[in-house]
Order: sequence, then structure tokens, then C-alpha cells
Amino acid sequence: MAGLRPFRPSGFRLETQQVGGKIVVHNYGHGGGGVTLSWGTAELAVQEIQPAGNKQYAVLGCGAVGLATARLLQQHGAQVTIYAKDLPPRTTSNIAGALFRPGTGFDPDRVAPAFFDRFDRAIHLSHRHFEAMIGERYGIRRLDNYFLGDQPLVDAEILVDARISDRIRDLYPQAAELAPDQHPFPARFASRHQNLLIEPPIYLNAMLDDFRRAGGTVTVRAFESMDAVLALPEPVIMNCTGLGAKTLFNDDELTPVKGQLTVLAPQPEVDYVAYQHDLYMIPRRDGILLGGTFERDNWTLEPDPSEKRRILEGHSKIFSQFRS
Ligand SMILES: Cc1cc2nc3c(=O)[nH]c(=O)nc-3n(C[C@H](O)[C@H](O)[C@H](O)COP(=O)(O)OP(=O)(O)OC[C@H]3O[C@@H](n4cnc5c(N)ncnc54)[C@H](O)[C@@H]3O)c2cc1C
Repeated sequence: MAGLRPFRPSGFRLETQQVGGKIVVHNYGHGGGGVTLSWGTAELAVQEIQPAGNKQYAVLGCGAVGLATARLLQQHGAQVTIYAKDLPPRTTSNIAGALFRPGTGFDPDRVAPAFFDRFDRAIHLSHRHFEAMIGERYGIRRLDNYFLGDQPLVDAEILVDARISDRIRDLYPQAAELAPDQHPFPARFASRHQNLLIEPPIYLNAMLDDFRRAGGTVTVRAFESMDAVLALPEPVIMNCTGLGAKTLFNDDELTPVKGQLTVLAPQPEVDYVAYQHDLYMIPRRDGILLGGTFERDNWTLEPDPSEKRRILEGHSKIFSQFRS
């Protein structure tokens, strides 16, 4: 199976527009970190329009970002309708791992310095929400993550970019390089940190259930144009359409980063995540996810057999060479 990460080189778009007599708040383009950042950018988006004092809101999109936005609006006493072409389980958010990490959410050479302030606020706000939701109902748990490679790894792999690393280091307090006798992996260097795993099939269903129980309405509808969106009855529209925003709101910057997964049968005894450069293994309850492809500008959802082979052979090499 494959999914398309909604990637913007300059980072997620969080912006309020007055158009056609409506307020449109854009909240999309989170790349490979949309589940991670969902609550945080939703909080920032909701803060933008609170002074407007409206009670009726339309949320476009029913992925992780749309659902977090819709739930926050409800918590502020709003009447919310979600409009979406696809609902869980048919969203990109369902395909995500989903680990709590910045991921491939922006191009470090293309973001404005102010973006890092927003990113910092968003990821910390999100972390607080997910921590409070740990447990079976939302399918969220902490587990050990191992990075494997040929050089020391904590900064390069976990903290992504030097301009963001010091700001998010606190989210991974136990991150540490391991000595060779502290791990079984066939790798020159290994690091370990604790991280949250959010299982989208469980999490998104529970969020949708919470939304409906709180009086929210869901309308399945595909919008073909901005005019169709602006014809909605609600005065405020939260645009959480992910990659769909490219054509709907003419965002030339938005582009897919294709990610392909091979899913093995569930193995409840596997209780850790393993990463090695362009390979990763995530033990979801519904299956062991093997992935590691990041193909920018590739729009096809067709799995590539050569990538499948690479992923299977790469993982087989790691796990067949465990040291005892
Ligand atoms: C293989 C893979 C692994 C990933 N791993 C992780 C991870 O470990 N951690 C992480 O945080 N993120 C991960 N991601 C990224 C994550 O999946 C995305 O960033 C996230 O799903 C984006 O959420 P969203 O709500 O913006 O978009 P989506 O989930 O795509 O939801 C968009 C919603 O908008 C609706 N919509 C779109 N266009 C229209 C339209 N024209 N009319 C009506 N409705 C419309 C859709 O139907 C859908 O309901 C991964 C992605 C992939 C592909």
C-alpha cells in the first residue's frame, strides 16, 4: 500500500483569509509529520479565529488535522460540520505509522526563520494533547525507538535539523547513543529514545466517535472548486484538506511525497520501532509496517515492486543478523 504525504517545502500553511464574505483558515501541508503536528496546528488555527465570535464552523477534511481542528472547536462551544470527500479509513492519515516526530515536514533550506517558532509551538501543543490521550481508547502508547547507522545518530536522525533540534530535545529526554553491548542490532552505531506511537486506525475512529457524540455532523462531499466551498452556509471554513488543497485552493507549492509500506501479520511481542536511513519498522496492532520510501512529486498510489523488494530484503538483513 502507498500514501501521499502533503508536502510544502516552506512548511505547513497556517493562514487566515477573508474571501467571498467568508473567513477561511488554512491548516494543511504537514508532509510526513501531519499526525504529529495535528493538535498543535489545530490549536494555532483556532486561536486565529476565536475573536471572530462565530458559532457555526465548517471543517473541510476528516484526516488527523481536520478531526483535531473539529474537536477543538467543539470544546470551545462551536457547532461543527465536517465536510470531506473521504472519511477514515480512506484518508492519508490512516496510512501513517504514526510516530510522534517532526518527520519530513519541510525543506530546511526553504523555510522562513519565523516558521521554526510556529513549528516549536505546534509540536509542543500537540505533544501535550497526545500525552493526555495515551491508552487503549485512542491507540496511543510509548515505546522504544532504535536508530541504526554508520555514525552517531541522536541529533542527525531524531532532531532532524539544527535550527529545530534544541527546541524539541525536551520531547525526547532519554535519547542516547548505545554502546555495542547495549543492543543486538548489526549496526556500527545505535541510539534509543522513547516515543509515542499513535495508531491511526484506532485513533481516527475514536476521534470521529468523540466528534459525533459531541453533536458534530459529518457530510461526505467532494468539492471541485473554491466557489463551491464558499457557497457553504457556515461563515468560517477551516481548510484541512491535506494534498487536496493543491487544486482546491491553487497552492502550487504543495506536492506529494509518496510513501510505500509492506505490511506483515501482527506480532504483539514486537514492542519497539527500528529505523535505518531509508528503512523503518513500526509494530502497529493491525500489522508490522515496513517502510522507508520518500518519493517527491510522485502522484501514483501504485506500489513499486522494486521498492517492496528493497524494503523486504533490507529488513531481512537487519533482523536475520541479530547479535545475541
Ligand atoms: C507511508 C506514510 C507514513 C507516514 N508516517 C507518519 C508518521 O509516522 N508520523 C506522522 O506524524 N505523519 C506520518 N505521515 C504523514 C501523515 O500521514 C500526513 O501528514 C497526514 O495524514 C496529513 O493529515 P491531513 O489531515 O492533513 O490529511 P489527510 O489525512 O489526507 O486528510 C485530508 C482530508 O481532506 C479531504 N479532502 C481533500 N480534498 C478534498 C476535496 N476536494 N473535497 C472534500 N474533501 C477533500 C480528504 O477526503 C480527507 O478527509 C505518513 C504518511 C505516509 C504516506
